[in-house]
Amino acid sequence: MQIIDGKKVSAQVKEEVKNQTLELKEKHGVTPGLAVVIVGNDSASRVYVNNKKKACEAVGFKSEEYALPEQTTQEELLSLVKTLNEKPDINGILVQLPLPKHLDDKAVIEAINPEKDVDAFHAVNVGKIMLGEYDFLPCTPAGVMEMLHSYDIPVSGKNCVVIGRSNIVGKPMAMLLLHENGTVTICHSRTKNLAEVCSQADILVAAVGKPKFVTVDMVKEGAVVIDVGMDRDENGKLCGDVDFENVKDKCSFITPVPGGVGPMTIATLMKNTLKAAKLQNNISD
Ligand code: NAP
Repeated sequence: MQIIDGKKVSAQVKEEVKNQTLELKEKHGVTPGLAVVIVGNDSASRVYVNNKKKACEAVGFKSEEYALPEQTTQEELLSLVKTLNEKPDINGILVQLPLPKHLDDKAVIEAINPEKDVDAFHAVNVGKIMLGEYDFLPCTPAGVMEMLHSYDIPVSGKNCVVIGRSNIVGKPMAMLLLHENGTVTICHSRTKNLAEVCSQADILVAAVGKPKFVTVDMVKEGAVVIDVGMDRDENGKLCGDVDFENVKDKCSFITPVPGGVGPMTIATLMKNTLKAAKLQNNISD
């Protein structure tokens, strides 16, 4: 069994982004800029936003944070997005989800210029991913693919099972595995015989949001297990969707939580922002 080290792979990705950013500044005078918008006081969101800001600093990007109060109206938020769409030194716009209940996240995402949608949540970018002709890949699923590549784990022809069908993780994850010729099954809360379906997987991706949901009986001997979950266990400690301690010895590869998929999500966000800066300045790779 090998533990997939997301911190190590993400450091490599960020180092590459940092080098390319330096080159972009020197050759073209362009510094990629990311605007992060956070509304309200959700503590988990606050941590994610701080991590994104730190990553921007580490790779040499300009970052702007817009922390809006809980009672911000839809009009105020849309107006900020419009301003950021028009700001030439901002190449990527990220609105941290979830938004407070009175705000319509779908409308906010649709208001972002697709060329600045570095989360790849806008319908235009989602459609492009479906067609396999994308500029940006959604950060978490793309981070998972990067980890598989980094450890030379083949996808082609493998049975891949994704548990979860959210627009942010499950669905695009399945699509990316399909693009690489995996035979993909998507499971969700109405799936019958879930354990049996999962136990057929060569590559099992858990994106459920339930602590230690994937138990050892659901895992095939020698499987690759990717844990997207960021959950809290009974003691309030961060854990994943996989019962890591009991599952790990049955796997060929497994990602830990923390230190697995999480850091990769941010590394991909940096890659996407760099790409956005290049595209918006007509600079090819
Ligand atoms: P979500 O929108 O709540 O989706 C959860 C999915 O799990 C749904 O499709 C749901 O099925 C399915 N599900 C729930 N209970 C199930 C059950 N008993 N059996 C089978 N399927 C079940 O969550 P999400 O946004 O995709 O996030 C999933 C997890 O990933 C969360 O822990 C989140 O914190 C984490 N996450 C981590 C990162 C990262 O960077 N590491 C990024 C994003 C999310 P239905 O569709 O039928 O309801």
